[in-house]
Amino acid sequence: MEENIVRQKTVKDADREFERALRPLSFDDFTGQEKVLENLKIFVQAAKQRGETLDHVLLHGPPGLGKTTLSHILANEMGAGLKATTGPVLEKPSDLTGVLTTLQTGDVLFIDEIHRLNPVVEEYLYSAMEDYRIDILLDSGPNSRTVQIGLNPFTLIGATTRAGLLTSPLRARFGINCRLEYYDADLLSSIITRSSTMLGTPIEPEGAMELARRSRGTPRIANNLLRRTRDFAQVLGNGTITRDIASLSLRALEVDEGGLDEMDNRILLAIIEKFKGGPVGLSTIATAIGDEAETIEEVYEPFLIQEGYLMRTPRGREATEKAYRHLGFDFPTKTNS
Ligand code: ADP
Repeated sequence: MEENIVRQKTVKDADREFERALRPLSFDDFTGQEKVLENLKIFVQAAKQRGETLDHVLLHGPPGLGKTTLSHILANEMGAGLKATTGPVLEKPSDLTGVLTTLQTGDVLFIDEIHRLNPVVEEYLYSAMEDYRIDILLDSGPNSRTVQIGLNPFTLIGATTRAGLLTSPLRARFGINCRLEYYDADLLSSIITRSSTMLGTPIEPEGAMELARRSRGTPRIANNLLRRTRDFAQVLGNGTITRDIASLSLRALEVDEGGLDEMDNRILLAIIEKFKGGPVGLSTIATAIGDEAETIEEVYEPFLIQEGYLMRTPRGREATEKAYRHLGFDFPTKTNS
């Protein structure tokens, strides 16, 4: 058991190490998200010209699309330091105060999973964001008094997969709000090619495209597939990732033809098998597959809609013909009843 935990940690560390190594460091290295990037570049340039700190930034969107990467890039581009933490780690106000008081002027504080902040801690964040100060209550009862601590001006970058769960006072304190979108296969193919070059693994354009098409629109998945495919190329081929090597390794890794993951398929299967293809309400789907409606709505559904497997209609969600075919079902011809 003990050994198992140690082993898992090592694997996780290796994953993190791999991600860090491939992480773009500047706006120029970052592929895609053009609209978001265009705006961020302007905000960074304007803040730098005025000699001010960058306004607080909220980055939201599904996992693996580059929120952490962008926050590091923003700090780099501002020439600022970065401290990273996550919502659940900041359990008590003193945890937050501990981090805030170490920030230098202009530094970036990156809080991942900001929707999971303890509400008490969140309250402290409000004045920190707005006025760069925190009010701390010392003692309780008749001796209680408040001490005000001034902070150096800083930029908070909050990342979340669940923007809908953010309270409105917190959301209102972010001057810059960016939503990251899934990447198309061409963009993912250039990300894969860049990563391959960094890893010293030759890759043919068809090989890169094959991986790109099956990466669920997500750079993190693309890089992970590349990492495993590189092993297949090394052991079963001559080291180069060709289309054949890519197909062979994707088959071995049991990656779905459309790049859908297990949860995507469960959602589609439930709609088709249990609800005759829909329309069916989100909460009903959530109950059927035992997950939260918000997770389905914010993590899975956007990709399924973008790829044409799912439709959102006023009466609920409907599986498309593509979804039926994908799961090996005949598409029923609907009769008007
Ligand atoms: P998130 O914080 O949204 O979960 P990350 O920023 O951790 O995602 O990105 C996951 C991985 O994908 C990182 O290794 C990063 O290098 C890579 N990545 C994400 N976006 C891009 C991009 N636009 N260009 C190149 N690599 C990217």
